[in-house]
Amino acid sequence: ADVTHLDLAAPAPEAVLPDGRRVAFANLDYAATAPVARVAAEAVQELLPWYGSVHRGAGALSQKTTFAYERARQTIADFLGCRPADEVVFTRNTTDAMNLLAHALPPETLTLTFLGEHHAGLLPWPRAHRLPIPGSPAEAVASLADALAAVRTRDGAARPLLVAVTAASNVTGEIWPIAALVEQAHRYGARVAVDAAQLAPHRTVDLAAWGADYVAVSGHKLYAPFGCGVLAGRADWLDAAPPYLSGGGATSSVTDTAATVVWAHGPARHEAGTPNVFGAVALAAVCAELTTSDGVGWQAYETVLSKRLEAGLSAIPGVAVLRSFPEATEATDRVGIVSFAVSTHDSADLARWLSVAEGIGVREGLFCAHPLSRRLLADAGRRTGRPMPATALRASIGAGTTEDHVDRLVAAVAQGVEKSVGHNEVRL
Ligand code: PMP
Repeated sequence: ADVTHLDLAAPAPEAVLPDGRRVAFANLDYAATAPVARVAAEAVQELLPWYGSVHRGAGALSQKTTFAYERARQTIADFLGCRPADEVVFTRNTTDAMNLLAHALPPETLTLTFLGEHHAGLLPWPRAHRLPIPGSPAEAVASLADALAAVRTRDGAARPLLVAVTAASNVTGEIWPIAALVEQAHRYGARVAVDAAQLAPHRTVDLAAWGADYVAVSGHKLYAPFGCGVLAGRADWLDAAPPYLSGGGATSSVTDTAATVVWAHGPARHEAGTPNVFGAVALAAVCAELTTSDGVGWQAYETVLSKRLEAGLSAIPGVAVLRSFPEATEATDRVGIVSFAVSTHDSADLARWLSVAEGIGVREGLFCAHPLSRRLLADAGRRTGRPMPATALRASIGAGTTEDHVDRLVAAVAQGVEKSVGHNEVRL
């Protein structure tokens, strides 16, 4: 039987296909953004009568809203495995969280990243050293250790270092060896920021158990609405940095001529302006639900679905599945994301055809991880001896996905590769 650990707020819309069939649209694009959970919608609904301005009023509505916002911060801290001294700053999303951290780095901090990062973890750093895309988790750890040793030899012990790394790849779903990377980083006095945007919807995020210094997530990938993310982690750099945004809420005092401003400490320092309370409360409701619902049962079911998806797609002639760590064969090493390409088909045409003709939504492109996606497409071309298209497709699953969705996609891709689905045939 189909398993779910989280009910969704709305059923899938119905799609009317060109041949007259009516089907529930199969959304297989959870890695881009997840549908909203029922508990998230309910949390917003519950707060509606109490809607007021956070931290800005003595009235009951403002007080209640402020309480809800701060309680959400604590629930999310618990969900992320924060230590008591960690700071939890609300941001717009993971991209915003990484940019906030980049803004808060002490002067001259060098950030080490792998070239395979999502652009949110690859691009924000003022001074970056980019490591080649590794072929295995062990190679990632060894390569990071070598690079850190070389940087320390060159720059000395005092240079602040940050390692930014993704916990689960949004291209391959592969899970990275975070604890081992943290161990290496800390040996060399480097801090670690973990991009858990893709891991958090699928696996436990545990800042304390990893020993990592910062973690970032996006609410909209965690079944909450758009516009709320989190940066959590060590307070010292954040409290020493200039405010991310200057304005009301971030100050504890401004003199009459505004010549002197005392900036707040704690999360308020970086949260100027009226915050996204609904986003925070919705995200916290999902975090609470994911902590108490049957995560183990869901994880086992998700693994079954992932394996079925990957095996089904791999078996279609001409389809190449993209992987960075090809020898890690167990689907438990990955979250429910499978990217693929078909040597004979333009990926955008195929994705449009899947949507229009079969009512199935997948992502197409280079997934905001251009160096990694291009590299994996080139690898697939070499491996199969057939040139791959310039972009790839990505199917990703989550709460509400069933075997039927997976089977529909596999059958549709098998059918699609049999025919020409060039743009002339696609009617939008
Ligand atoms: N990191 C990873 C691994 C992601 O998959 C994404 C979203 N595709 C991001 C960061 C950025 O998330 P957002 O767009 O919510 O800022």
